[in-house]
Amino acid sequence: MPDAVVGKNVVVSRGERVALRDSDFVIPQGSITAIIGPNGSGKSTLLHAIAGLLPISSGALSVLGATPQLSQPQIAYVLQYTTIPKGTPLTVREAVGMGRYPSLGLLRRPRSQDKQRVVQAMERLDITHLADRHLAELSGGQRQRVYVAQGITQDHSMLLLDEPLTGLDINSAKTIDSIIHEEPERGCSVVLTTHDLEEARAANHVILTDGHVVASGPPEEVLTATNLATAYGLGSLHETDVAAPLFPTEHHDHDH
Ligand code: ADP
Ligand code: MG
Repeated sequence: MPDAVVGKNVVVSRGERVALRDSDFVIPQGSITAIIGPNGSGKSTLLHAIAGLLPISSGALSVLGATPQLSQPQIAYVLQYTTIPKGTPLTVREAVGMGRYPSLGLLRRPRSQDKQRVVQAMERLDITHLADRHLAELSGGQRQRVYVAQGITQDHSMLLLDEPLTGLDINSAKTIDSIIHEEPERGCSVVLTTHDLEEARAANHVILTDGHVVASGPPEEVLTATNLATAYGLGSLHETDVAAPLFPTEHHDHDH
C-alpha cells in the first residue's frame, strides 16, 4: 500500500521563522502514527502542513497522492486547544453535525443517514447525554470528545489529532484512545501528536521532531536513547526517561 503522506526536504515557515527545517518523513496508510517532540518542535506545524493549513516553503509533500490543500473532505483535523468564543450558541449535536458539512454540500439539508452518523459518533464518544448542551457548558475533556466526534463524523480516510490526550481525565482519555485504535480497522490513517513516550510507543509508526524530523519509522527504531537525547537534548529529561532502554536490546546469544 502506498504511504498516505510522503515528505521530502520539507521546510515550513511561520511568519519570519522557520518552524520546521529540512525534513524527510512518511506516514503509512491505515495505521497509527505518533508525532512526538518537545514544545515548539514543529508537531502542530507538521499537522498543519499535511492538512493544507500552512504552505510548505520548499521540498515536496504528498498527502493521499496529491498536494495538500485546504478543505480536503477526506482529512478530518481535530485542532489543539480549540476554544469556543464565549456565547457561541452551538449545541453538542450541532457541533458534531458540522462534521457532515463537507459531504452535504452547499445548502443541502442533512439526510437521515447524516443524522444517523451524528448519533453513532456521539455514542462512540460517550456524549449522547450531552447532545443538547452548549459547548461553552462542557469540561475540557467533554469538549475534546465533541471535537473528536465531529472529526469521525466526516467522510474521512485520515484523522489528524493535535495532542488529543493532553490534559484529559482518564475516562475522556480512554474513550478517545479507543477511537484512535478503532479507526485503522476501517482503513483510516490516524496521525496524532503527543509528549508522551508511552503513547508514541503504542503507535505503529513514529515521527520524532526537534525543529526538524530527527527520525521517522517504527517505534522501536525511532524511540532509541540516542534519538531521544538528540531531540530532547541530553540531560533535559530525568535519567530514567532517556537513558533507560525503551525497547530492551535483543540479546542474540549464540553460545546456546
Ligand atoms: P509544537 O506543536 O511541537 O509545540 P509548533 O509547531 O506549534 O510546535 O511550533 C513550531 C515553531 O513554530 C515554534 O518555534 C513556534 O514558536 C513557532 N510557531 C508556532 N505557531 C506560530 C505562529 N502562529 N506564528 C509564528 N510562529 C509560530
Ligand atoms: Mg503543538
